[in-house]
This record gives sequence, structure tokens and C-alpha cells, in this order.
Amino acid sequence: MDNEKVGVSIQDAKGVWVFAEQREGKVMNIAFELLGEGSKLAKDLGVELSAVLMGDNVDGNIKDLFAYGADKVYFVENAELKDYRTEPYTEMMNQLIKEYKPQIVLIGATNIGRDLAPRVAGRVRTGLTADCTQLTIDPETTNLLQTRPAFGGNLMATIICPESRPQMATVRSGVMKKKEPDYNRTGEVITASYDKSTKVRTVVKEIVKEAGRAVNLEEAKIIISGGRGLGGPEGFEILEKAAEVLGGVVAASRAAVDSGWISAKHQVGQTGKTVHAKIYIACGISGAIQHLAGMQNSELVIAINKNPAAPIMQIADYGIVGDYKNILPLLIEEIKYVNS
Ligand code: FAD
Repeated sequence: MDNEKVGVSIQDAKGVWVFAEQREGKVMNIAFELLGEGSKLAKDLGVELSAVLMGDNVDGNIKDLFAYGADKVYFVENAELKDYRTEPYTEMMNQLIKEYKPQIVLIGATNIGRDLAPRVAGRVRTGLTADCTQLTIDPETTNLLQTRPAFGGNLMATIICPESRPQMATVRSGVMKKKEPDYNRTGEVITASYDKSTKVRTVVKEIVKEAGRAVNLEEAKIIISGGRGLGGPEGFEILEKAAEVLGGVVAASRAAVDSGWISAKHQVGQTGKTVHAKIYIACGISGAIQHLAGMQNSELVIAINKNPAAPIMQIADYGIVGDYKNILPLLIEEIKYVNS
């Protein structure tokens, strides 16, 4: 590659960075998950792990970043950085990367991360692998091996970025595991100043939260999920009742979401959320590889399906063959009885 075009030279690049995404002043869980993964990479490379925290009045989060594994925090505080906006965040990351030269930058594949990561990669002229499910270091070359599903989830591709630095990857929430926090850990804070000449063409006037109950599938312990086999939106009403008695949340396959029976924020799978439930109950879901990609790390999978040969039955710990409309009401009554 033309050396002129390289943002950070390979020889100079050192350290693993995690973008500590914050919303309303609070660092999101994804940052702690990335720190958990980043600390393994940093250890394998024998380098420091750093978090990049930007915002306004966000210094209260620094201790958490150290507790979850950061050795260093690059900290930028300015009113312009209060809420995420593309231009100031991209410019600040660009400046920090060019000045401090990390070899790896990890960003959450959240709505914010999906906006920020490609812009930063473009600015610093490096590559970006989105939605990685595994990150390891090649012991021979020290390149970051970035693995992600490809070709509709039919194969896993391992991607490298051998000619430019930093090596940038995004990871979805729930894919990596955070470490147990250790509040005895501290580290170095490097305070950088915001460049007031940054051209910002957007103003956040108001943040309007989507109406309706928030769904936190990534952290749910019990999930009851519905697919095309539910036959219509009314099927999700039965699932809601079951979720209520089980103390769980409702999820869905893409087929159910695409049919308009439930909103996309409930989707589990390759293009939805990745979950690690203690109990995952799949109702009327066939078990396509793209769905399994998001739920197969659940501890106990129960499948309710009319078809005993549905692929979901192969990964289920318990398979119940039959119509969910008959089975779920029985299950709800039984749980109510046990709980009474
Ligand atoms: P179907 O495959 O149609 O299965 C319905 C099941 O319901 C069948 O097994 C049937 O036996 C059973 N059934 C029918 N009636 C009843 C009843 N009354 N009681 C009990 N069981 C019944 N899919 C995802 O889920 N998440 C993703 O993130 C995702 N990403 C994708 C990304 C790409 C690039 C592509 C190409 C596809 C993706 N898909 C995803 C789609 C995926 O390939 C499947 O099409 C989808 O998961 C099928 O959903 P389903 O299991 O609900 O429907």
C-alpha cells in the first residue's frame, strides 16, 4: 500500500483500544464486553488495553473502565460530545488514533458503532471487519484474526488487515463476555482536548425514546421466541403470557419480524441480536443457521415444533413435538401451579 495513504504505520502501532460508547452519560455494557475480549488480545500481544471515553460529565465512568480491564483511558470531555454525533466523534477518534497509534480498535456493533466505525476506518485509511464473532491473534504474524459469518451464515470467514493499522473490528452486544469487575484496579488517564474548530453540521434537539417496553434480549435469562409457525401476530400474545409467568422476554425469528408480527428489536440471529439465555424456548421456529447463530450459546434450549425433523430439534435439549397453541397454555398453567 502507498505509504502516503497509511494513517498509522505498522511499526509504530501499539496497543488495543476499545471505544467506550456512552449514552446519557453512562457507558454501555458492550464496552465492558469488548474490554473483556480486548484484555485477552492485549495479553497475547503483550501490550496495554485502553478505553476511549468521550462525552460531557462522563468522568464517573472511568473507574468502571479500569475495573473491567482497561490499563489506560483516553478521555475527552466537551459539551459538543454530550450526545453522539457523527462529525465530532469521528474527528476526535481520528485525531486520537493518529496521535497515539493503536494497533487494534474495537467498537460495538450498535447503531452508534455502525455509524462511527466505518467513518473512522475511512479517515485513518484502514480496514474494518463488521460483526465479528471471534477475535484472536495470529501467533506468527501478530495480525488480528477477525472471524465473522459470511455468505448468509453458511461459512465463517477469517479476515485479516495485514497492511494497515489500526486493525478495526465491530462486535455485537452479547457476543463477547465481560470480566468480573475489579474495583481495586486503576490506571492512567490521558486527557485530550476537543478540537473546537471541528465542523459540526448537526444539532441534537431532543432524544425521543421509542415508545413501548424496552427489550433487553442480550441480558435476558429466560427467552421465549416465536417464528413463522406462530401463524400470525396473535401467536405473540400467547408468548407474552408465557413470558410473564416465566419472568422472561419475548424474541422472534426474522420470518416473524419480516411478516410484521413483531418489531425488529426482538429479532434473534445473524442479523438480529445474539443472546446467551439460561433457557431459550423456540416456538414454531425451524432452526435455520442464521437463527441458530444468535441463540445457540443459550444454556438450555427447548423447541416446540410440529415437525419432529425440524433442524432446531437437533440442537434442542428438549424437543416437544406438537402445535404450540396446545402446548404453551399447558405449560403456562403448569408454571402457575408450581409458582402458587
Ligand atoms: P420457518 O423456517 O418457516 O419455520 C417455521 C417452523 O414452524 C417450522 O419448523 C414448522 O414446522 C413450525 N410450525 C408451523 N406451525 C407450527 C405450530 N402451529 N406449532 C409449532 N410449530 C409450528 N433468521 C433469523 O431468525 N434471524 C436472523 O437474524 C436471520 N438473518 C438472516 C440473514 C441472512 C443473510 C439470511 C439469508 C437469512 C436470515 N434469516 C434470519 C432467515 C433464516 O434463513 C430463516 O428464513 C428464518 O430464520 C426462518 O424463520 P422461522 O424458523 O420462523 O420460519
